[in-house]
Amino acid sequence: MTQRCRICNRRLTNPVSQKYGYGPECIKQAVVERSAPLVALVEMDRILKSTRIRKVRMATQVQTDTMDLFSEETE
Ligand SMILES: [Zn+2]
Repeated sequence: MTQRCRICNRRLTNPVSQKYGYGPECIKQAVVERSAPLVALVEMDRILKSTRIRKVRMATQVQTDTMDLFSEETE
């Protein structure tokens, strides 16, 4: 399993990054260059969204409400 991004060499912290070998930003470039499959972007988007919402819920309730509205708009 890859533990560092193949482009910027930063440590990979989520399972999707580790699966494909690219961080959340670099994976976009990797898909453009066809080094990673398009489905990697979908998986990355999904895991980032769920991680972000969970973190916000732990922080403050007000921000959670805002984030929930935002999530509905983008889906
Ligand atoms: Zn990277």
